[in-house]
Amino acid sequence: MDKTTMFTLTYGIFIAAVEEGGKMNGCIINTAVQSTSDPVRMNVTMMKENLTTQMIKKKGSLTVSVLSLDAPLDLIRLFGMRSGREYSKFDEIEYKTDKQGNPYMGKNTIAYMSLIVRSILDLDTHYLFICDVVEGEKTETGQPMTYADYRALKSGKVIEIDNYNDVPDKKTYVCTVCHYVYDGDVPFEELPEDWTCPVCNQPKSVFLAE
Ligand code: FE
Repeated sequence: MDKTTMFTLTYGIFIAAVEEGGKMNGCIINTAVQSTSDPVRMNVTMMKENLTTQMIKKKGSLTVSVLSLDAPLDLIRLFGMRSGREYSKFDEIEYKTDKQGNPYMGKNTIAYMSLIVRSILDLDTHYLFICDVVEGEKTETGQPMTYADYRALKSGKVIEIDNYNDVPDKKTYVCTVCHYVYDGDVPFEELPEDWTCPVCNQPKSVFLAE
């Protein structure tokens, strides 16, 4: 099978966030989708190893903030590449909280939804949270960021709002487990063989060029 076929699927980019035990945490995901409309339900798939995932599993609820195209790279780095185990991400940004006390983005977002987890499927490396959507509000006007925009932004391209489907022609390497896009200074080919994905710790061999 050609695993790069998976990169042809289109996704949005979201921040999944939760407050649990007095601590707030969140991370970037591309795996939030609506599953049914009446009642409104969403499915969210998240890596088990992530602290945010573990906190959501404990709390039984979360928010999903839909990132807008003007979200800066610093915000993406903060939520996409740093662990809440060593860093308090919500100290640095504007946020509001929903009725469950879960934070959602106060800026660089066009909408948020509050989700209550109704059941959890164990997918080995990930959990699939099947949720009821209990609140939802448009927060700002603008265009939603797509996964293609996110990849472009991470590889250093400035996104033109009017031409935002442009993707860079530079070869990018993507982790097939967590979809982290390599953006280090050392060319990917020159990384040592024992190098691992900074997000999910999988070996270099799980990365594919696209
Ligand atoms: Fe990874």
